Amino acid sequence: MFTLETTEIARAIENAKALHPKVRMIRFGEYSVSGSTGNAYTVHCYRDNGQKVVDCSCPTRDGIACKHGVAAVSLHIAIAARKRAH
Ligand SMILES: [Zn+2]
Repeated sequence: MFTLETTEIARAIENAKALHPKVRMIRFGEYSVSGSTGNAYTVHCYRDNGQKVVDCSCPTRDGIACKHGVAAVSLHIAIAARKRAH
């Protein structure tokens, strides 16, 4: 789990793009991301106390932005922006 406030999210998104993880939306705020070894992780994006929290089921330790979380959150941000536009 990591928060967007404590992460260099722009650079992390660039890194995640280079790895081309496959992201599938389960529902708004919940995503399934395939890692490089073919296994899929579930990522939750939500707000807690005003902080945007990203919670991935992979073993990356707390406070570190994993590529699955970053890939999911970049899709989440795009969808959220589209929702706000309507
Ligand atoms: Zn992960």
